[in-house]
Amino acid sequence: MKLIFLGAPGIGKGTMAELVEKKYGFLHISTGDILREEMKEGTDIGKQIQVRMDSGVLVPDEMITEIVKVRLHKDDCKAGYVLDGYPRTIPQAEAFEKVVAIDKVIELDCDMAIILDRLTGRWTCKDCDEIYHERNMPPKVEGVCDTCEGVLYQREDQKPETIKKRLEAYEKQTKPLVDFYRGKGLLHVVDASPAPEVIFEHICAAIDG
Ligand code: AMP
Repeated sequence: MKLIFLGAPGIGKGTMAELVEKKYGFLHISTGDILREEMKEGTDIGKQIQVRMDSGVLVPDEMITEIVKVRLHKDDCKAGYVLDGYPRTIPQAEAFEKVVAIDKVIELDCDMAIILDRLTGRWTCKDCDEIYHERNMPPKVEGVCDTCEGVLYQREDQKPETIKKRLEAYEKQTKPLVDFYRGKGLLHVVDASPAPEVIFEHICAAIDG
């Protein structure tokens, strides 16, 4: 099955996509992760997108659609996938329609206050990229990764000014996709305010239904 997860940054798309991958075997594909990897490796694409990524601005539509197209050609996508973070604009969705027939679009939705609480206070391990949260998922020792003892730091896009920009970009550029996919009869809305296991149950019901 081919799925798209829609929802504001920080709402938990990545966590839920991982759970879906474990249960159903649909590969979790995060465009944010792919782009961060390009930056880490210092590729041409990585260098071109650094400033936009660090300031919470979207990368160009054609570039990201090309990256996704290439990724979906790999064998590990054959059993299905969950796209997390793509498409993110109407032009991306229109271009993507011509490439793939998506089965379902699941929108995770909740109050902005909850999203802000989840987004602010995130820290990432410098070595293994594990993400922690000051209040909701703190490491055992402050500033140190539980898994590999690496140093925790706040990524540029986890800082308050950038979070504001990412949320604005979501409202303005991505939110219109909800109506776009509703109009095509593909949309399933899931309330993202309850506990993670409850959200996951509702996502499974949408997938199985
Ligand atoms: P994320 O981890 O999904 O929040 O993505 C982090 C950053 O990667 C975003 O703020 C954008 O700069 C960039 N990005 C990820 N996916 C896309 C996309 N589909 N279109 C444009 N930019 C994207």
